[in-house]
Amino acid sequence: MGYVGNAGHMEIIMLDAQKIEALAAGFRGDLIGPKDAGYDEARALYNGMIDKRPALIARVADVADVIAAVNFARDNNLLLAIRGGGHNGPGLGSCNDGLVIDFTRLKGVRVDPIARTVRVEPGCTQGEVEHAAHAFGLAVPAGIVSSTGVAGLTLGGGTGYLTRAHGLTVDNLLEADVVLADGRFVTANERDNADLFWALRGGGGNFGVVTSFLFRAHPVKMVYAGPIFWDLKDAKKVMQTYRDFIGTAPTELGIFVGVKTVPPTDPFPKEHWGKRAVAIIGAYNGSVDNGVSAMKPLRDALPAPLFDWMSEMPFTAMQGLFDPFFPKGLQWYWKGDFVKELPDAAIDAHIAAIAKAPSDLCLMHLYPIDGAVHKVGATDTPWSARDARWSMVIAAIDTDPSKAAELKKWGRAYWEAVHPYNLGGAYVNFMMDDEADGRVQASYGPNYRRLAEIKKKYDPQNLFRVNQNIAPAA
Ligand SMILES: Cc1cc2nc3c(=O)[nH]c(=O)nc-3n(C[C@H](O)[C@H](O)[C@H](O)COP(=O)(O)OP(=O)(O)OC[C@H]3O[C@@H](n4cnc5c(N)ncnc54)[C@H](O)[C@@H]3O)c2cc1C
Repeated sequence: MGYVGNAGHMEIIMLDAQKIEALAAGFRGDLIGPKDAGYDEARALYNGMIDKRPALIARVADVADVIAAVNFARDNNLLLAIRGGGHNGPGLGSCNDGLVIDFTRLKGVRVDPIARTVRVEPGCTQGEVEHAAHAFGLAVPAGIVSSTGVAGLTLGGGTGYLTRAHGLTVDNLLEADVVLADGRFVTANERDNADLFWALRGGGGNFGVVTSFLFRAHPVKMVYAGPIFWDLKDAKKVMQTYRDFIGTAPTELGIFVGVKTVPPTDPFPKEHWGKRAVAIIGAYNGSVDNGVSAMKPLRDALPAPLFDWMSEMPFTAMQGLFDPFFPKGLQWYWKGDFVKELPDAAIDAHIAAIAKAPSDLCLMHLYPIDGAVHKVGATDTPWSARDARWSMVIAAIDTDPSKAAELKKWGRAYWEAVHPYNLGGAYVNFMMDDEADGRVQASYGPNYRRLAEIKKKYDPQNLFRVNQNIAPAA
């Protein structure tokens, strides 16, 4: 297809109308500009707090379109963003006044049940990959919300219920096809372009546009899974017990602890609606009997919960558990940290902060970082926090845009209260774009310098800079 509608944004037209026509002539996907029907829908991101207006959205249909779009952005000095699932907190899958390469149309998934691999196109959500792999009794370790984009999640790291047993999503990446800043197409794996392959496993979208991912998959079908909620008055005991338990638990048990609110909606028991609470949520990948045994020390040590809904279910059902509560378009403000110790004083700070949450949707989760993640060396991938024990996310969330400032204020105050107990860096996918100087460097630790060198080799002009940016080495 060619160029949709009305020649798009004035800046682009002024840039060089003939070049735009040339791009459109060879383009199979859709080019969507501000005057086109569907522009507002096409530019809308998962986080309703972010409102970006790209000059042109290039909804690519194949790799040739990606090459054309990269060349067009570079040659015309346009800001370039790459959109996988559009779930990024600060909206780094889009930009103002630039070109967005949008992968919404590219959703191919090919499962190889013999090799236990899954090849994924970058427009896929996690849920789409999980659906395809589930039919073969397989899953790729990823996050905990099915609507999250696989591309951005993978390139930043990827933590979820299978992480303790099988590592981060990047630990399961076997190969990626990439369009580089100069328009060349390469495949990166342990053998070919190994430096690029290393950088992609946590370095975000800094090095090129990934057009295909190849993952290792693992046997996962039915799981013993679900949430357990306790009243906030039991939060200290629950968090202390979880802290001391999780490192001793079998790695098939992927459970996190969080502070939140009992959703004021069915199917939650009406008498608990709106109560501030502490929750343990997760999945045991194995039989119910083994799952119950794995959970026994934790349950035995804790008071009676408000409700305990762990039961047998398909893994895909567990992955969709949060979907009804977090539709597209809510207001989100994120803060993260890597956490090595969880002293009682930090637990007290968490409990005090959630008690002041401005909305019932606000939450804090501590995702375990241990087991298989600790078996990979700190410099084996850019994701250096291999000695952390948790990845923390504070998410200030509400439906009401007028509450944006209040959400930010609460999220920042919460983070300031607990940050002194945490490590210096954070999971880059849990950061906004208002972090203090040095946070990205701290997040990559000893790997930052090498990342900057590889950036210089593959993207010396920093064409790919709408991300948690790694500047090319001087
Ligand atoms: C509700 C929710 C739940 C989440 N849960 C988890 C979780 O459990 N575990 C976890 O690890 N993370 C989780 N995240 C964070 C998630 O990993 C990030 O938001 C991630 O950026 C989402 O990827 P995306 O493709 O949807 O993002 P996008 O907004 O599309 O892109 C994000 C970044 O990735 C880059 N990018 C995207 N596609 C490509 C590509 N093809 N090539 C090169 N660069 C690309 C872009 O440059 C951009 O900087 C969650 C996020 C949300 C909103």
